[in-house]
Amino acid sequence: MVRENEIRKGERAVEAPPATDAGLVFIGRIHTPWTSRMATPRQGRRDGPICRIEVFEPWVEALANIEEFEELEVLYWLHLSRRDLVLQSPANDGSARGTFSIRSPARPNPIGTSIVALAGREGNVLLVRGMDCLDGTPLIDLKPERTGFTPIAPPQPGDFEVG
Ligand code: SAM
Repeated sequence: MVRENEIRKGERAVEAPPATDAGLVFIGRIHTPWTSRMATPRQGRRDGPICRIEVFEPWVEALANIEEFEELEVLYWLHLSRRDLVLQSPANDGSARGTFSIRSPARPNPIGTSIVALAGREGNVLLVRGMDCLDGTPLIDLKPERTGFTPIAPPQPGDFEVG
């Protein structure tokens, strides 16, 4: 059950320390069709709508080579989330689970991640399918999806050697 910012039966909030700047830089903004948390998918789907990931200057140059990848990992800041819940009741039925055992957007540092399909690029905008965030959600990072990425530097001690 999607939440706004209410406290539900069985949940527990703590007095969270004041948020400090961890040095994050928002590198862009994600444009989606969803303007309400109630209507936003809980997890993105490959058959979901095309969403637009806008990358701001001076980071646009960092998009070089990104079109070599079919799938990207997107990290974003779920900026409207409450950050003080240690126990949460996803079903709002009085039973609660620890925040770190679920993928709720309410977390001490509300970072969301999605694996998306890259459908195209228009300059500083990536067209993707698979997002699940509100329109205007700040972008933290973009990476090639892990399994589709071969490290470019030579192997180093500790790397797992396959076959
Ligand atoms: N896929 C990400 C993950 O697993 O890390 C996020 C999953 S989270 C369950 C997705 C939900 O977060 C949406 O259904 C919506 O209710 C909520 N949400 C989306 N964008 C948000 C934002 N900018 N601020 C707060 N909540 C947001």
